Amino acid sequence: MPEEVLRQAAAEMLDWHGSGMGVMEMSHRGKEFGAIYAKAEADLRALLDVPANFRILFMQGGGLGENAIVPMNLSRGSVADFVVTGSWSVKSHKEAKRYCDARVVASNADDQHTRLPDPATWKLTPGAAYVHVCTNETINGIEFQTLPDLAALGCDAPLVIDFSSHVASRSVDWRRVGLAFGGAQKNLGPAGLTIVVVRDDLLGHALDICPSAFNYKTVADNQSMYNTPPTWGIYMAGLTFDWLLRQTEGAATGVAAMEQRNTAKAELLYGFIDGSDFYANRIDAACRSRMNVPFFLADESHNEAFLAGAREAGLLQLKGHKSVGGMRASIYNAMPLEGVQALVGYMREFERSQA
Ligand code: PMP
Repeated sequence: MPEEVLRQAAAEMLDWHGSGMGVMEMSHRGKEFGAIYAKAEADLRALLDVPANFRILFMQGGGLGENAIVPMNLSRGSVADFVVTGSWSVKSHKEAKRYCDARVVASNADDQHTRLPDPATWKLTPGAAYVHVCTNETINGIEFQTLPDLAALGCDAPLVIDFSSHVASRSVDWRRVGLAFGGAQKNLGPAGLTIVVVRDDLLGHALDICPSAFNYKTVADNQSMYNTPPTWGIYMAGLTFDWLLRQTEGAATGVAAMEQRNTAKAELLYGFIDGSDFYANRIDAACRSRMNVPFFLADESHNEAFLAGAREAGLLQLKGHKSVGGMRASIYNAMPLEGVQALVGYMREFERSQA
């Protein structure tokens, strides 16, 4: 979270804008929360440049919830295609199998999820209800640098993207997307809020078994207030949207500014890793994630010492996911360039100390 956002939330914790209430104490149907909600939605639309024919839904259930909610709403019980590129798309495919004929049409499992399968090789199913792609695989550190253009592949199915771990770090080409979902907890706010951006024509096709609170049409028709929405998450995300919109890098603002900053952060870290024999990143350079940078020490017997020294230097949460091992630096939007410089400085020092 950006520190400025946390400080503002702290200052408003007991009394939001002189209302005599904290946000957690408000009715979600009152005018105060109504104002918070309307601004958050409008700011997110502006921030991500969401076209008018897409609805923004503030839901609950997280990315894993959406793994079930998407097929319940979009699959019509028919075929859905999955491009498997890492741990999260593996999970999405597995969950969708409970609701439809979920098929893996491309996979990089044989490459240990280190490169993206070329869209030209995807075995897309004619008439599939949708095509699912995880555009940033958080655990594996692999990211689509451009969204696949399904129309150019002769496929008219909507593209569903799980953009949980890089939302608002780069722009989205909505012409190529039918639905995007993501948990807020990486780049947008606290855990508990799920963002769904869905094209109008995809509403209204839910399976009968779909819970009403997870039926996109019901949620859209009720401005995300069919059930009580995660009000605190929406408020915090709203402060973050406002913060993001105010960010600038040269002439760039908002997401474009974040994209520049994230590119500079990632180039610094990958550049250092590539220039060293002590550290290595195994992901194809064409699809390395700007958000999640997994890396390995050449001699893994130094792992514990590396992590202990990092903790002492105030560099936290660097241990890699257990399924991949090694280290992982997650350098989300709120991580400033100085944070990555500090990490690289520590890595250089650690390497020297082991020589
Ligand atoms: N998809 C991606 C890309 C993720 O990074 C995560 C969480 N790390 C999930 C899905 C699962 O999200 P949640 O824990 O909110 O269900």
